[in-house]
This record gives sequence, C-alpha cells and structure tokens, in this order.
Amino acid sequence: MKYVLVTGGVVSGLGKGVTASSIGLILKACGLRVTSIKIDPYLNSDAGTMSPFEHGEVFVLDDGGEVDLDLGNYERFLDIKLTRDNNITTGKVFQAVIDKERRGDYLGQTVQVVPHITDAIQEWIERVAAIPVDGKEGPADVCVIELGGTIGDIESMPFIEALGQFSYRVGAGNFCLIHVSLVPVLTVVGEQKTKPTQHSVRGLRSLGLTPNILACRSTLELDGNVKEKLSRFCHVPIENIITLYDVSNIWHVPLLLRDQKAHEAILKVLNLSSDTREPALGEWTSRADLCDLLNEPVRIAMVGKYTGLADSYLSVLKALLHASVACHRKLCIDWVPASDLEDANAEENPDSYRSAWKLLKGADAILVPGGFGDRGVEGKILAAKYARENRIPYLGICLGMQIAIIEFARSVLGLRNANSTEFDPNTENPCVIFMPEGSKTHMGGTMRLGSRRTYFQGISSKSARLYGNRSFIDERHRHRYEVNPDMVKQLEDGGLCFTGKDETGRRMEIIELPNHPYFVGVQFHPEFKSRPGKPSALFLGLVAAACGQLDNLLKKGATKPCRMSNGSAIKAHLYENATKLPNGSLDGIYCNGNGLHV
Ligand code: GLN
Repeated sequence: MKYVLVTGGVVSGLGKGVTASSIGLILKACGLRVTSIKIDPYLNSDAGTMSPFEHGEVFVLDDGGEVDLDLGNYERFLDIKLTRDNNITTGKVFQAVIDKERRGDYLGQTVQVVPHITDAIQEWIERVAAIPVDGKEGPADVCVIELGGTIGDIESMPFIEALGQFSYRVGAGNFCLIHVSLVPVLTVVGEQKTKPTQHSVRGLRSLGLTPNILACRSTLELDGNVKEKLSRFCHVPIENIITLYDVSNIWHVPLLLRDQKAHEAILKVLNLSSDTREPALGEWTSRADLCDLLNEPVRIAMVGKYTGLADSYLSVLKALLHASVACHRKLCIDWVPASDLEDANAEENPDSYRSAWKLLKGADAILVPGGFGDRGVEGKILAAKYARENRIPYLGICLGMQIAIIEFARSVLGLRNANSTEFDPNTENPCVIFMPEGSKTHMGGTMRLGSRRTYFQGISSKSARLYGNRSFIDERHRHRYEVNPDMVKQLEDGGLCFTGKDETGRRMEIIELPNHPYFVGVQFHPEFKSRPGKPSALFLGLVAAACGQLDNLLKKGATKPCRMSNGSAIKAHLYENATKLPNGSLDGIYCNGNGLHV
C-alpha cells in the first residue's frame, strides 16, 4: 500500500478536498486502484450532529455513516463506496483509546497522546486503507489521506505527529506528501507572493513532515521565478510545484494536475512509474469542456431553508449538475427561501414574498430537499401545491416527499389539518409519523440511516422506468418519519401512487402522481449516489422533464447515460457569467444571488 497525504497551509477553504479527490482521480486514470481517508480534527464522533448550515451537508454512506462532505467528493470523483471508518475524527480516536483503557488493555501504563493516540491513528489508517471500496477484492494500491484544517492548528497536532511517525515507518517510496498552499497576488503590485507558503512549509518541517509536492492555489499560473523561489526555500524540486489556478468548474482540476504532470511527480515519489500508464481522462475531459459550453439554461427552484452556504445542499447541487450536463443544459439554481413563500410573509415582508413567488413561478422545475425542523415547512407545502396544480416537474427528497404527502392530504383529501407528527404531535390526521426501525421510546440512535432496499410496485411507473426497470434499488436514507401506513389506502384512493416500498410493504419509499408530467417524492436521498458520468435516475428525470426531454428519455431507456461528444476540440469559453463560490473556485453552477453566493 502506498500513501498520499494531502495537507493544507496558510488558510482554510483552499479546496483541499477537491484537490485530494482530483489527485485520486488521476492516479486512478493511470490504472491504479485508489481509496481515501479524511481526517477531521474535531471532537465530534461524526458529522451527524453538526449543523449543515455551518459545516456543510452531512454526507451519508451505504453503511449509515454520517460523514464530512469531502467523502462525497471522493465517492463522486473516484466512483467508490466508502465506509464510516474512512472518516477519522479526534472524537473517534479518543473514544477508541478511552474504551481500550476502560477494558484494561493498557493495564499499568499511563495512557498518553504519544504513543497511545498516535499509535491508534496509525493503526486506524492502515486498517481502513486495506478495505476495498471499488467493488473489487483485496486492498487498493494507493490511499489518499486528507488532513482537515490548516498546518499549525492545535487540533491537528496528534495527527501530524502520528503521520510523521507513519511516513518514517512506511518509508520513502511509499509515502508522498502534497501540501496545498496559497500564493496570493497583491493587486497593487500584481506580484505573486511566496512568503505565506514558505512559512507554512517551515511549519510542516518543524513538525517532522517534509513535502514532496506543493500544490499552490493562485488566480493565475505561477511565474517561473516564483516557482524557483518556492523551490529554493521549500526544498521541493521545481517540477513538483503545481499551480492550481482558478478554473471554470471543478472537473478541470484533475486536468490541471495532469497538464502539469503532477501524476508523474507523485508516481516517481511512490516508485510506481513503471507500473502505470498515461492517465486516461478522455471522457472526463469531454464532460468538463461540455459543462463550460452549455448555454441553454434549465432553471431549478430549490425551496429550502435560506442559508447562504451552498455546501449545505452540496450533493443535491452536484446531482442536479450531473443531470443537467447529461441533458446538455446549463444548470441555473434559483434559491427560494421556503418561509418567504408563506402567507404570513405577504404582510411582514411583501418584497421578499413577491420575489420568492416570482422565482418559484419562473422555474422549469421545483425541488424540495431534505430537512429537519419546522421552519419553512408551510412554504414548502405551498411550493409542492403549486407544482402539483400547475403541472410543474417536482422532486421531493425525504422531507420534500413528506410535505408533498401533507399537501395532498390537505388539498385533495380535504383533511385540513393533516400534518407530520414531527411538526404537530397532536394532529388529528397524522399522515407522516415516527416509525423507528428499533426502539420506539428512545430517540437516540433511532434515525433510519444508510442503504435500504426499495422494491418497485410494477414496471410502468416513471421511477421504475427511469431506474431501468430494475425490480429493486438500494438508496441511502437519513430520516425518522415516514408515511403513515394506515393512511396509504386513503391517499391511494385520492389518486396518489406509491410506486416503491420497502420489503415489508409498510414503508413508503416512492410516491408519484400518475397524471402529472413529473411529480415524484422519495423517502431516500438519491443525491448521494449520483456520479458525474452516471447521473442519479430521478434527478435525470426531473431535469429531463424540465427541458421537455422526459418522453424521449423514457423511450430510450433511462439507465444509459448520455454519451459525451468528443470535447477535445471545444474551446473553453463562457466563463464571464460564472459566479464565484465562497472558496474562490468556480463551479459550473449558476445561481441567483439569494442563497449560494454572497
Ligand atoms: N425530518 C424528516 C425525518 O426525520 C426528514 C428528514 C430528511 O429530510 N432527511 O423524517
């Protein structure tokens, strides 16, 4: 096993996760099997308890792990399936060591950060790196480890110490350290400044780690003399200094690395040059270029909690992007703050009310993503009602399906006060209820998490056809509440179809309105398994419906992803409309000023 460690210096938010995923991708394109580990030096055991509006979305894995969103980037870029143990946190490691101490495993010893915590970290890395994640047998060839945070943080010290010992133990030729840093340009003089990088490399060295490769974030390519200076002060060969300058969408990052021969530098450090081929990135390149060229928009209204942090819905945005590119449309997101749509807001803040409804009505499709808590729920219900009544393509994910059920029960069945017991525990018409798989009395650990099977009820529904007429699918879940099985008959009699259920037939997984162009709700989160070249079926259905391609798609058989045209001749352009993401990279997703970009 060879290891590539990716660290970050100077400031956070340099796109270390995307860089690490891109490194994994080019190594995979060279013919290697790649796995990855993300280290988060915080005390939470996992990301499940953290607010997506501060920390970005909680990504959910097949095994039910609630992990950092970077694991989503790895899964998407490398087309792999990770486990909860691929996300190491300080909390997890300390917990494991303290549990061992309580069991008496260290009897007689003083349990300390060095060596007990540092040994536990190294053992964890070696154990997890060996887990196959690409569906093949046996361990991968290379494990990319991303260390969260910035060099110098107090939190990451035990990890740095452990990784220093680890690099020494696995030995030169098996360990490659890539340090992602920032080379700012002072606008006054227009000069690329190397000092912050010098300092952070010095910090790294003082902690016992020596970088083999520098990946420098900068607006433009680094000048030759700037590279020379960095090489001299940081003791890194000039050919191992890569510039990650701003690109139009993140799919270009692996191509930047390839163009600057980063793979050659990494393979040389890891003694793998003779076992690999030139990176095969043809399809990836075509897609990255195609994404830049798309100019016919598809407008999707995202009706959620207004946040201003794009990362809160990262996987949903990515899934929409994958689907839009497959439909050859430029993805335009209109963020609609759900509570702005509510009647009460018409008086409190008529401007925001008007603009929210204008955005909703201007959209080609409406998506209500997952969520917890009751803020904005009535607004989401109004959005679902609007979509149902006006035949606008609609996709409701988890909470987005539950509110569609509530809306249907209220408007079609005439059950005025129908609600979810999450929002009104005493409702007379509980159409969505708490349905734990385990204990009914203990809230803790009652979330239905991870991969569960959905069986299609017949083959004629849109969802079944979009999934390629398979009899069942496995998708990821993260919820407590579900459609009340006792009200299913009533809802069906009103015209709602439950086209996917779990193996018991008691849990409703997919709803559809048969006489609507595209009205689909799912209890699961299909966004987590969408991939750039393999868009998630129901997102593809939504975008196709939004741009009038659904019938064709259903005729063609939806499982076959759109082939990319050969984009090698395509010149990248159209960057001028692109909107900057907070981390400075451009993402290929265009939005109104409402939610994403501040
Ligand atoms: N709050 C809802 C539940 O717990 C929906 C959760 C979600 O959208 N992920 O069932």
